[in-house]
Amino acid sequence: MTYIHCSPGTKISPEQIPLAWSCCSGKGQNTSPAGALCPLCRKEGMHIENITVRHLLKKEMEGKASQEDYWLCMNERCAAVYYNDKTGTIFDKDDIDVPVWFKDDANPRYACYCSRITDEDVTRAVKEQRITDMTAIRKFYDPDAKSQCKIKNPTGRCCSPVFIEIIKKAMG
Ligand SMILES: [Zn+2]
Repeated sequence: MTYIHCSPGTKISPEQIPLAWSCCSGKGQNTSPAGALCPLCRKEGMHIENITVRHLLKKEMEGKASQEDYWLCMNERCAAVYYNDKTGTIFDKDDIDVPVWFKDDANPRYACYCSRITDEDVTRAVKEQRITDMTAIRKFYDPDAKSQCKIKNPTGRCCSPVFIEIIKKAMG
C-alpha cells in the first residue's frame, strides 16, 4: 500500500477513498477490477469516469479528450494525472484545472473541491473556531455548499474520508 502525505504528518492512502461513495450522484461509481498501468511510472491507476476528466481539464485541453473513461495515476511523485491506455492519451498536472490533492507538489491542497476549502482552512476552523464537524466546517466557509464531487474532485469521489482525517489531525 502506498501512503501519501496529504498535509505534513498526515498519512492518508488513496485506497481509503471509498470506491462507491454516494454523496453526490446518489449512485456509486463503477470500478474496474484491474487498473491499467500508468505509462510514466508503471503503477496501477484508479478508474475515473469520462465526465470527471472532462470537467477538470483545462479549456485548451478539452479537444484532446476522448469519450472513454480514464485512469488516475495515484503515485504522489508522478506527473501523470489521467491516462487512457487504449488511446495513448496522457494528461499531466499542467493539463488539469485544479491541483490534485495527493500529488506531492499540490498547491493549494484542497480538502474539499466543491467548496474550495484547503487543508489549512480545515485546520484553522478546528483550532480557531473550535468546529470539528465536517458539515459545519463546510457551512462556515461556504454557506451554500453543494456536493459535486463527481465533477469537482479529481478522483470523482467524495472528499469526506480525507476531510475527516485532516480534522482528526488538527484536533491532535
Ligand atoms: Zn504515474
